[in-house]
Amino acid sequence: MANLDWTKLGFGYRKTNTILSCSYKDGQWGPVESHTDDNLTINAFAGALHYSIECFEGLKAFRGADGKVRLFRPEENAKRLQRSANYIGIAAPSVDRFIEMCVRAVKENIDFLPPYGTNASMYLRPTLIGVNPQLGVKSSTECLFLMLCAPVGAYTGSTLQPSYVVISRDYDRAAPNGTGSFKLGSNYAASLYSYNLAHKLGYEAVLYLDPLHHQYIDEFNSSNFFAIRGNSYITPKSDTILPSITNKSLETVAKELGMTVERRPVPVEELSTFEEVGECGTAVVITPVYQIDDRPALESSEVKPYYFGSKDQCGPKSLKLYQMIRGIQDGEIEDPFGWCLLVD
Ligand SMILES: *Cc1c(COP(=O)(O)O)cnc(C)c1O
Repeated sequence: MANLDWTKLGFGYRKTNTILSCSYKDGQWGPVESHTDDNLTINAFAGALHYSIECFEGLKAFRGADGKVRLFRPEENAKRLQRSANYIGIAAPSVDRFIEMCVRAVKENIDFLPPYGTNASMYLRPTLIGVNPQLGVKSSTECLFLMLCAPVGAYTGSTLQPSYVVISRDYDRAAPNGTGSFKLGSNYAASLYSYNLAHKLGYEAVLYLDPLHHQYIDEFNSSNFFAIRGNSYITPKSDTILPSITNKSLETVAKELGMTVERRPVPVEELSTFEEVGECGTAVVITPVYQIDDRPALESSEVKPYYFGSKDQCGPKSLKLYQMIRGIQDGEIEDPFGWCLLVD
């Protein structure tokens, strides 16, 4: 086992044993190759470098209480990658190839898989890039699919640490009828200016609104939005948000726990009625949010704050949802939905 302090892992790059690659050329996918060097050689005219012909995924493998290794819903990520690739007009690996590479990456890097009980896991980063040399704007005809991994702990600080966020009214991450629902690196590039500005102002995340009217809540820069009021789990319905697999799983778990699930447009003003608010995504499942500031512009001195629960504790309903998902991932509670793929 790698000599790491598993309890102190953040979310960052770490050299592991191998990365995997698979090339698409002349209309077909080649063999899967394993590399000990993380540096790639690609043509400087590759479309990925000029026109952001790139999409990616993120999923996790966990060492369970029973010693078994589980991948959480990899088929969902495989299908979402296909949807992203289709939008930018490039080939995507089959669901089987995608899953085969997830499994192989875990096996080749098994000494970097954090042990059970550390709340750390192995993050997999499937990445698909257009690599044939080009100058004109065209979808790539040759692609490189990579399966990268890294052991990770809590994304920022400790687990379930409530965060402080700001609404962005002067910058959007996605355009109306644009790319917001696809997992493209270019969406992140588009969010960096406002994200950096918010960081300088002391915020941990940015909450974007529907880009057409700036009336309804969309999502955070890298995670979906959910709220709890009474016995309801409420999450926005919008064409410009990324369909989070964590959010979809939380909806299922909420129903299982007898809660009502509402997926509908969520007006900003409704924030004043929520008891709990959270960010959700693969990295940490849930990050509770204790304060959301609404400003006419990020740098405006005018602030309308909304508060949710405690500054140092996760709300009770969010905690229940979190524990059920983490319990399934860690093999502590049975997997009633067949979400986990065992890696043997
Ligand atoms: C990946 C991502 C999420 C979270 O999706 P999960 O499938 O739950 O990891 C949320 N928002 C954006 C913008 C994303 O890129």
